[in-house]
Amino acid sequence: GDVIVTDNLWKTYEMGDQQVNALRGVNLRIRHNEYVAIMGPSGSGKSTLMNLIGCLDSPSQGKYWLNGHDVSELNDDELARIRNKEIGFVFQTFNLLARATSLHNVELPLIYNGTPAAARIERAKSVLESVGLAERMMHKPNELSGGQRQRVAIARALVNKPSIILADEPTGNLDSKTGDEIMALFDDLHAQGNTIVLVTHEPDIAEFAHRVVTIRDGVIASDHISSRISNKG
Ligand code: ADP
Ligand code: ADP
Repeated sequence: GDVIVTDNLWKTYEMGDQQVNALRGVNLRIRHNEYVAIMGPSGSGKSTLMNLIGCLDSPSQGKYWLNGHDVSELNDDELARIRNKEIGFVFQTFNLLARATSLHNVELPLIYNGTPAAARIERAKSVLESVGLAERMMHKPNELSGGQRQRVAIARALVNKPSIILADEPTGNLDSKTGDEIMALFDDLHAQGNTIVLVTHEPDIAEFAHRVVTIRDGVIASDHISSRISNKG
């Protein structure tokens, strides 16, 4: 089925007496278990689209259905609830709590939705094991490498079994070897049935996805199967 459907999505920012149309009618459909990269030059609207897809912000006009729910007109509390349940975020800067262990960082989304402690710890441990961090559960971010920190962030993104993993420049702070290891992990997650949306301005990273959507001046300029897939024959 469809995980993301947008219909004529607009986002207009007001800056004093000026208006910026960051998105100008975006129609996008992403199905379950797709692996999509959203590309585009700086200022094209990638972050704005990610904020709408991730329920961090609401559109100025148009409709957005996430997993069949119309989320275009929810208030901030309703958006926060659906975000915690449906979206697993991965950021360039990891966004981990510096004073908390890996285990605690991964538990946080479960604390927020009221999961009992024993179930929380069991689930957080199992997700950390699945990203290769069984031996790093009690370490804090400053005791981990960049790649390990991003694995903790990915475990945190997965802990609620979200309907989409939304990754914004996930390799932007990693050297290329570590970045490739993280992209291999996304390949595994995709093979396990996850739906992945990857926002990046790096063509080499976008090529890991199976479909590449390019945004330019707030509209979708192209949408095609990635060459990595189409070259497989
Ligand atoms: P943000 O998500 O913080 O609004 P972007 O996603 O546009 O920013 O970009 C993330 C980082 O990549 C920023 O440091 C930005 O300056 C840089 N960047 C974005 N687009 C390009 C580009 N086409 N060429 C070089 N650097 C870019
Ligand atoms: P990208 O992520 O591709 O760099 P953005 O979505 O950040 O693009 O920006 C798209 C356009 O919207 C740009 O012209 C940018 O300056 C503008 N914009 C983004 N956020 C805001 C904001 N909070 N207020 C005003 N203008 C914004």
